[in-house]
Amino acid sequence: MEVTVVGWAGSFPGPDSPASCYLIEADGFRLVLDLGNGALGALQRYTALSDVDAICLSHLHADHCIDMLGYSVYQKYHPAGPRPRIPVYGPRGTADRLSVALGNHGKRMAEAFEFATLTPGTIEIGPLRITTALMRHSVETFAFRIEHAGRVVAYSADTGPCDDLVTLARDADLLLAEASFVDGPGLPADLHLTARQAAEHAAGAGAAELVLTHLVAWNDPAVSQAQAAAAYDGPLRLASTGLRLPGAGPVRPGEGRTAGT
Ligand SMILES: [Zn+2]
Repeated sequence: MEVTVVGWAGSFPGPDSPASCYLIEADGFRLVLDLGNGALGALQRYTALSDVDAICLSHLHADHCIDMLGYSVYQKYHPAGPRPRIPVYGPRGTADRLSVALGNHGKRMAEAFEFATLTPGTIEIGPLRITTALMRHSVETFAFRIEHAGRVVAYSADTGPCDDLVTLARDADLLLAEASFVDGPGLPADLHLTARQAAEHAAGAGAAELVLTHLVAWNDPAVSQAQAAAAYDGPLRLASTGLRLPGAGPVRPGEGRTAGT
């Protein structure tokens, strides 16, 4: 299993990254995990859009799903003819919400994608065993535990502090944890994690590696990294566009894990 960070910007695209999107590959199967603003373009650096086998949407905030609209154009109007429908797993109401955003073209959404509703639990998607749990966010939001061939990747999606994230990420080889906030007074509850809280969740879960993601452009990433490092002593890094995560698969030459950077 390999994970490629396509987009890591939190809440809105930043100057160096689209909003949330990750490509998970295993046995030739390609799963797109979230598809936020700008991610559809960057995704094509790593896979042809015609080669995507399934899509999972953690929740229906625009920075995690809005590029599904552009994807429907690709699916419907490709010069070679309409593309086969792609399975899309999302929260309740995903098809309706995306159809409204598209502007009353619900038929196109239904023709382009085959929607399935996520509930907490475990499902098989292609060769991947995927367990979801509800997080603490302002809308229904699922975190993911993705297992393949003995490797485990966990993804927090958006959440405030949440014991269920610790459970979901238990002994993961890699935790992709959101770190929208930096330490400070008056942070809203049940919305996002600070980098330090992300690290505390990784430590509590016993995750072997932590990647901070959903980093918001108005924060200094060096501050986020330093605050996380105070609470987690394993390998820690910031997400970056195109980052292939060796924690999710065999370590490649030149991609050795680097602690504390
Ligand atoms: Zn959100």
